Amino acid sequence: MKFATKAVHAGKFQHPSYGSVMPPIYMTTTFLQDFPGEEKEFAYTRANNPNFVILENLLASLEDAAHATVFSSGLGALTAMVSMLSQGDRVVGINGLYGGTYRLFHSIFSRFGIEFITIPSASSTDVKKGLALNPKWLFFETPTNPLLEVYDIAALAKEAKARGILTIVDSTFATPYLQNPLALGADIVWHSTTKYIGGHSDVVGGVAMTNDPNVKQQLDFARKALGVNPSPFDAWLLTRGIKTLALRMQQHEINARKIASYLQNHQLVKCVHYPGLSTHPSHEIAKKNMRGFGGMISAEFNLSLEKTKQMITSYQLFALAESLGGVESLVSHPASMTHAAIPAIERKKYGITDSLIRFSIGIEDTQDLIEDLEQALVKMEQTSHV
Ligand SMILES: *Cc1c(COP(=O)(O)O)cnc(C)c1O
Repeated sequence: MKFATKAVHAGKFQHPSYGSVMPPIYMTTTFLQDFPGEEKEFAYTRANNPNFVILENLLASLEDAAHATVFSSGLGALTAMVSMLSQGDRVVGINGLYGGTYRLFHSIFSRFGIEFITIPSASSTDVKKGLALNPKWLFFETPTNPLLEVYDIAALAKEAKARGILTIVDSTFATPYLQNPLALGADIVWHSTTKYIGGHSDVVGGVAMTNDPNVKQQLDFARKALGVNPSPFDAWLLTRGIKTLALRMQQHEINARKIASYLQNHQLVKCVHYPGLSTHPSHEIAKKNMRGFGGMISAEFNLSLEKTKQMITSYQLFALAESLGGVESLVSHPASMTHAAIPAIERKKYGITDSLIRFSIGIEDTQDLIEDLEQALVKMEQTSHV
């Protein structure tokens, strides 16, 4: 089966008595045992629930993974993964990670003796230096936030594997529709399902996927032992959202491509970061890793910080909010929102300037979105002459 068919049919589940076409929601904390101590697939919902399994089978099928484990959130999935490490272990991360990922390592797990070291880029010099530190994991996100850099998963995984180091990829921006890191050699791929996979900005969740049954067992154990399970209702909502994942990703991309080229030709725009543009430094790697370029764009404007903030609040359709990947378009200002915790000098060094804006392009009509961007830019042009 191809992707769009799997998104609708995989993980299918039929209640033995009623034959409902869509899965029911198992809002139960506990399950009957036939005798004391019986080992059953479902005993207590912190450990497992039919709605988790339905979602896991569906996600594993889309990612072409042997196993999936679903969690309370993306960071719940990461917490479970980190719990597979021990005191004294080291993780090497490549620059460009989600802010909450840094925070989890630096503010929590560093106190438990897990060392997290960030290397500035995925260049072979930086990666060689990083791997020479003998970490347990090579850890990165691709495409990155907010500059949409794309890293060469196959090359990085090969380097890591040669040294017995696991490669772990956060593929949230790409979704399984656009890239499959396991097929490129990664050992674990994880997603915040809160974003494109759920797709409707109404549910928080996470998933980690692998081909290694031993890792799957450890992730299931971590969910039960740490208590980072989702609600059966949230798992059901995600299963429902995924049915339109292929359609949504197609429209996100149609809109993003047109908006990227619209912005690129505007005089108030200094630079557009979208891997689909041939001018983007990662364009060639993106073509190698991915089947498309997704719906995230960031752009730097020829505007002061004050003007940038003014423009962000003058959109009609683009809502000013954190998060991404929903059907509705969102806009954010990394320097004062997602990346505010990074000192200004560091931010600038990595290209996160005060006039950088990140757009999560929704699935609305393309023309309406461009008109919204246009009216805000016209306002800025008018006031900049005063
Ligand atoms: C949102 C996000 C996360 C964290 O996921 P939550 O579901 O919010 O816990 C991790 N990585 C990326 C790339 C994200 O966008």
